[in-house]
Amino acid sequence: MAESRERARGGAPKLSELPELPERTDVVVVGAGQAGLSVAWHLKRLGLEPGTGFAVLDRGPEAGGAWQFRWESLRLGTAHKVDDLPGMNRIGLSFATADRTRPARDVVREYYERYEQAFGLRVLRPVEVERVTEDGHGFTVATDRGDIATRVLVSAGGTWTRPFVPHYAGAADFRGVQIATPQYRSADDFAGMRVLVVGGGTSAVGFLKELEGVAASTLWTTRRPVEFVEEVRGTEAVRRADEAARAGRPLPSIVSGTGLPATPENLAAAERGLLVARPMFASMEPDGVRWADGSFAPVDAVIWATGFRAELTHLAPLGLREPGGGVRVEGGRSLRHPRLFLAGYGPQASTIGANRAGRTVARQVVAELGQPVR
Ligand SMILES: Cc1cc2nc3c(=O)[nH]c(=O)nc-3n(C[C@H](O)[C@H](O)[C@H](O)COP(=O)(O)OP(=O)(O)OC[C@H]3O[C@@H](n4cnc5c(N)ncnc54)[C@H](O)[C@@H]3O)c2cc1C
Repeated sequence: MAESRERARGGAPKLSELPELPERTDVVVVGAGQAGLSVAWHLKRLGLEPGTGFAVLDRGPEAGGAWQFRWESLRLGTAHKVDDLPGMNRIGLSFATADRTRPARDVVREYYERYEQAFGLRVLRPVEVERVTEDGHGFTVATDRGDIATRVLVSAGGTWTRPFVPHYAGAADFRGVQIATPQYRSADDFAGMRVLVVGGGTSAVGFLKELEGVAASTLWTTRRPVEFVEEVRGTEAVRRADEAARAGRPLPSIVSGTGLPATPENLAAAERGLLVARPMFASMEPDGVRWADGSFAPVDAVIWATGFRAELTHLAPLGLREPGGGVRVEGGRSLRHPRLFLAGYGPQASTIGANRAGRTVARQVVAELGQPVR
C-alpha cells in the first residue's frame, strides 16, 4: 500500500508492478468505483471467477474510485453520505460507523481496498481503457496495457473526469481564477478573494461553507431558485433520470429534482446570508459577472460546481449517442448493444443507485452469458 501511495503522489509505477492482463475473458468491468465493485461482487457471487470469468480494470492508481481524488477537507457524514458496498458488513466494515474526523478520501480508499482484498476481486490497476470496439460476437477493449477480448462489457466509469461547465459569454476573458469541482483542493487557495460559487448542489453548498471566513466574500448563483426541503426527494429525481435514459435524452440535473436538505446548519447559513442564491448572471467580464438588468459583481475567482456528465469517452467507437444527445439505457443495459451495460449511469448515479446497479446488472450479464443464475 505504501508503494501505491507513492504512485498516487505522482511516481510512475515500475514495470514489474503493472498488472498482467488476460487476453480474453467473459466480462470486462471498466471502473472500480462503487458501481464497478458492486457489479464485480455480484458477478462473483453468481459464480464467475475474478481474473478468468471477469476482469475489473481501473485507471486510478489506488482503490476508492473517484473518492481517492476528492479534496482533503471533505468528511463522511457532513454533506456527503456513502452507502456500504454489498457484503461489506460480512467483513466488519460500514461507512455508518467510519471515522468522520479523517478525510473521506482516505477512509473510502482504505475500505474499498480491504473490500477488494477480502473478496478477491483482483482489480487490475492502473489500466486505462482507451477505446472499445464491437465485432458482432463481442468487444475488443483496447487499453494502455494491451487488448482484451470480451463477450460482455460493463462500463462503470462514473462522472468525476467529466465535469460540466456551462458556457457564458466572456468566460474566456475573465482574468480571475476559474475551477470546476474536481480541481478544488482547499478553501485556503481562495484566502482573501471574492469568490463566486455557481451551482445548486451539495458540492456548491459545501464550498460556500468552507469559504466562509476564509474568502473576502462569497456570492452564490444558481440556475433555479434554491429549495431547502425536509426530505430530499430522491425517488422523483431517479424517476426523471430513468425516463431520460430510456428515451436517450441528456440526463437531467439531479439537484433540480431533489432539493437541498433543510438541516439546522443549512437553514442557519441561509439566515445569515451565506446560503442565499442569486439567479444566474448573463455574462462574464474580465473582473466579474454581469446580470441581464445591468448589475455587476466584482469577483476574483469562480468555482463551477455545475455537475458532471457520464464518462463514456472510451465507448465513442460504438456510436451510442442518440440524435437527442443521450444514450439509451434501461435497467443498466444499453438498448443499442444488448451485451453492453452502463452501471452507475443515469438513475443509478447515486451511492444507493450505484450499489443497486451491481445486482441488477450482474444478473443480466450472467443470463446473457447463458449461465444459470445461482
Ligand atoms: C464531491 C462529491 C461528493 C459526492 N457525494 C455523494 C453522496 O454523498 N451521495 C451520493 O449519492 N453521491 C455522491 N456523489 C456522486 C458519486 O460520484 C456517486 O454516488 C458514486 O460514488 C459514483 O460511483 P461510480 O462507481 O459510478 O463512479 P466512480 O467512483 O467515479 O468510479 C469510476 C471509476 O472508473 C474509473 N474509470 C473511468 N473511466 C475509465 C477508463 N476509461 N479506464 C479505466 N478506468 C476508468 C475511474 O478511475 C474510477 O475509479 C458525489 C460526487 C462528488 C463529486
